[in-house]
Amino acid sequence: MITKTIFEKSQPGRVGYTLPKLKIDRKIEDIFPAEYLRKEPPHLPEVSELDVMRHYIELSNYNHCIEKGFYPLGSCTMKYNPKINDELSAIPKFTALHPEQPEETIQGILKLMYELKNMLAEISGMADVSLQPVAGAQGEFTGITMIRAYHEKNGNARKNIILPDSAHGTNPATSTLNGYKTVEIKSNDKGMIDLSALKEVADEDTAAFMLTNPNTLGIFEEQVEEIAEIIHNVGAFMYLDGANLNALLGIVRPGDIGFDVVHFNLHKTFSTPHGGGGPGGGPIGVIDKLRTFLPIPQIEKKDDKYHFNYEIENTIGKVHTFYGNVSQMIRAYVYLYMLGKNGLKRVSENAVINANYLMKKIEDYYDVKYKKGVMHEFVASGSSFNKYGVHTIDIAKRLLDFGFHAPTVYFPLIVPEALMIEPTETETKETLDKFADAMINIAKEAEQNPQLLKNAPTNTPIKRLDEVRAVKKLNVRFKE
Ligand SMILES: *Cc1c(COP(=O)(O)O)cnc(C)c1O
Repeated sequence: MITKTIFEKSQPGRVGYTLPKLKIDRKIEDIFPAEYLRKEPPHLPEVSELDVMRHYIELSNYNHCIEKGFYPLGSCTMKYNPKINDELSAIPKFTALHPEQPEETIQGILKLMYELKNMLAEISGMADVSLQPVAGAQGEFTGITMIRAYHEKNGNARKNIILPDSAHGTNPATSTLNGYKTVEIKSNDKGMIDLSALKEVADEDTAAFMLTNPNTLGIFEEQVEEIAEIIHNVGAFMYLDGANLNALLGIVRPGDIGFDVVHFNLHKTFSTPHGGGGPGGGPIGVIDKLRTFLPIPQIEKKDDKYHFNYEIENTIGKVHTFYGNVSQMIRAYVYLYMLGKNGLKRVSENAVINANYLMKKIEDYYDVKYKKGVMHEFVASGSSFNKYGVHTIDIAKRLLDFGFHAPTVYFPLIVPEALMIEPTETETKETLDKFADAMINIAKEAEQNPQLLKNAPTNTPIKRLDEVRAVKKLNVRFKE
């Protein structure tokens, strides 16, 4: 059962609100030139306020969200974001600000941004941070653009970027868009970097090495210092894809173990709600050597006053209008202040223990190849069910029947039939137990009644969809 569109619910003459008749005695034709006037009334649904409320509440019930249920979407960190962050970012003192206001009238928000960038610098062990990029992918792009500018200034832009086969797709995209060739190296059987393979490809043509740590297998790469030595010896930079810092907060500082550049996803680790494609934040941190390449403007403090500095010697310029997505910065700031140093560390401890607990509960039923050193997420495989004709997609769809969002599937690419599970720190043991029970139940169903999985989901408002039809034949029109 799926609802009608709001247009299909329209009844001629039905209204939500009526306004008193205008008391001006001029005709509209006398005010606006005829060419700007509508010939026909706008095509709007005619509905009552109650119709509107029911319509949207019904639609929201069809959807999944973190407030409704568990959302173990690996790599995406769908943690619960405290509502206080949203509330404070929406207070009129912030929302009424205009980016063109003179600096002396916006000292408060400048102070907040200045302090936030310093907190992120401290968390990551970087010398400075730019808050301007608005997504992880854009943070990466900004970071590699700075690295390229650095190499160019030194007379040789270099030719390639090395990354492991477990990398997120945005890494090779960043490399390509910056005019570099991507050199992919295979992970070893522990899910870590094969140092000899790295030594073979790292040379004076290498601009940077991009690593996600913990990597997309959820494994902490233990050889970072050795890797950094190899990379630094050829004059290249160590880039950390820090989209997901949930395992490291207050425990490891990327700057302390050899990384030169790191981006953060405010909308993963630092508590901006996401999933609807809404505005994000992808700040970027750099070591001292790259500071003069940061985007403009940078927020600085002088004699107790905050101001934008546009005079940065080697700046790569602007990467977004104004100063990026400021409301996400407010959320991150509130989140960091609420937690404090100890709280941040507990975030990571709980994220790691939750993932390990869940892995232990289901590892007898689903193959987990890379187990040692699992941090905030782990990757199980659905391949042992292939003999019953069941694939990971069927397991994911069946989970919806139990009221759970599916994990990330078929990523990372190096695990066949991957189910990438990230419970996050905000879930209780009871929720993890329920999810594990559902997973175990599904494993049994796969053997005993595979057709049940092939037909899933059956309890959701929309049943099994053709995964590719919407891409090939997108239809967003309503019926006239
Ligand atoms: C999410 C993610 C990105 C990209 O972040 P966006 O904000 O979606 O652009 C990059 N790398 C990793 C490892 C991620 O999980």
